[in-house]
Formats: sequence, structure tokens, C-alpha cells
Amino acid sequence: MEIKKFKFKRDKYRKTRGGTSHFLDLYCTKCKNHLLLYQKDGPGILKRLYLDRILAPDELISSKLLVCLKCSSLIGNLSIYEKEKRKAFNLIPGTLTKKISKGEYDV
Ligand SMILES: [Zn+2]
Repeated sequence: MEIKKFKFKRDKYRKTRGGTSHFLDLYCTKCKNHLLLYQKDGPGILKRLYLDRILAPDELISSKLLVCLKCSSLIGNLSIYEKEKRKAFNLIPGTLTKKISKGEYDV
């Protein structure tokens, strides 16, 4: 295992959300598996996960469903956020647990 340290993506999406970001470690509520590392832009609650903000692992980005790789729980469904024409997983409430992250991931 090697730890990869991510940097924030700085683009127009980040800008429109006030130019601030933080990393989140997201866990499956059911089995506690570490699902993914995410960049959350701006304040506010997490309603959807934009695919371009899922930093790791890569295999979650190519799927139409966001599913826990360990227990197969359904976490979210792929949709397009119309306002920005941006792919995102709409989250199923209660399926995710989040923790502030330093932006590191074991690859
Ligand atoms: Zn799980």
C-alpha cells in the first residue's frame, strides 16, 4: 500500500461555490467500509456526489450506480446535475457516513 496525497481541484465549479473546499472520507453506513475520498466544494450539506470530485478509487467513477464494494449496498444513482450539465450520484439518504479527511488515500 502506498498513500497518495491529493490536491484540491480548482476550477469553475469550485469558484461558483465560494472558492473553498475540503476533503471528506465517505464510509458505508451499513458495513463501515471506506468507500471513497471526495472533494466537497463550498459550504452546505452533501446531496449528491459529483463524479469529477470522487478522487479515489477510480472504479467507482465508471459505474451507473454507486455501490459499496464490500457489502454491495446501493449508495446512489447516476444522474446529471442539469444546472451545470455535470454527472453526479444522487445519494440515498442515510447510506453514507462522512469524516473530514486530510486528502490521503491508500492506493
Ligand atoms: Zn458496505
